[in-house]
Amino acid sequence: MNLNERANEICELCSQTMPKLKAHLVSPKTVEIVDNQVGICELCATNLDQPVDTAHHWRCLGDSIWSPTTAVQVQSYQVLDQLAPTQQWAQDIIDGIYLDEDASAWIESWRVANPAHIIHKDSNGNILHAGDTVTLIKDLDVKGANFTAKRGQAVRNIRLVLDNAEQIEGKVNDQHIVILTQYVKKS
Ligand SMILES: [Zn+2]
Repeated sequence: MNLNERANEICELCSQTMPKLKAHLVSPKTVEIVDNQVGICELCATNLDQPVDTAHHWRCLGDSIWSPTTAVQVQSYQVLDQLAPTQQWAQDIIDGIYLDEDASAWIESWRVANPAHIIHKDSNGNILHAGDTVTLIKDLDVKGANFTAKRGQAVRNIRLVLDNAEQIEGKVNDQHIVILTQYVKKS
């Protein structure tokens, strides 16, 4: 089955009728076969480059996320995942979906390949960015160094641990330490 036969001339993300769909390879796959691709319209193709700026377009993913085609599910998930920090409706869709093993494994490999998509959040769920200042919300014994980082202490100019959403780095008592995001709040 080729892509147009599978999609039946309907964009697999937004359901727009389109006689000639574009084949879009779903990250992080590299082999251009139908199972790794979604058939999408021009508008979806353009908006995929800037999903956050075109959030209004992506409400359609609430339907496409339930596609029986794994590639369509995974592509839908990836866009929703990028929208979720700023769009509550996208988070709601993610919270409500069920993914089978294939889809979950694919998404996992996408996360590993795209660590920038990992979102760091403080204890209140606020998104942390590199350079932020955070405050410790409990005393932390620093392993390897002989001191306790005190509750209430500010840590300026944090860095994000790119492959771990639970960890940030910062300077406390002139030492670079790794801090768990659950123990900080954004200042
Ligand atoms: Zn479309």
